[in-house]
Amino acid sequence: MPSPIGWPELPCIECGEQVAGIGFGERCPACFARRTRRAATLARRVALGLTSLVAGWTLLHLPAATMARWYALIGIPVTYLLIHLIVRRVAMEVLP
Ligand SMILES: [Zn+2]
Repeated sequence: MPSPIGWPELPCIECGEQVAGIGFGERCPACFARRTRRAATLARRVALGLTSLVAGWTLLHLPAATMARWYALIGIPVTYLLIHLIVRRVAMEVLP
C-alpha cells in the first residue's frame, strides 16, 4: 500500500528509518534486500543438503534400466529447484 498523499515518509518496520515511497508495515529497500539475501542463502543451503540426500538415495536404489538413469538425471536438478523455491518463499515469510 503506497504512502497516502501528505505522508511522504513512513517508518520501516524492521529498522525504523523514515523512508519515502513505502506503505504501512513494509520494509525499506535496504531491509528488503537484506531479507531477500538471507532467504536465498538459507534456501541454497537447505536445497543442497536435501538434494544431496535425494541424490544419494537415488544412486543407491537406481535400477539398471537406461530410462531410470535419465529420469534420475532430470529429477535431481528439478528437486533442487523446487526445494530452493519453496524454502526461499517460506523463509521470506518466516524470517524475523
Ligand atoms: Zn529498514
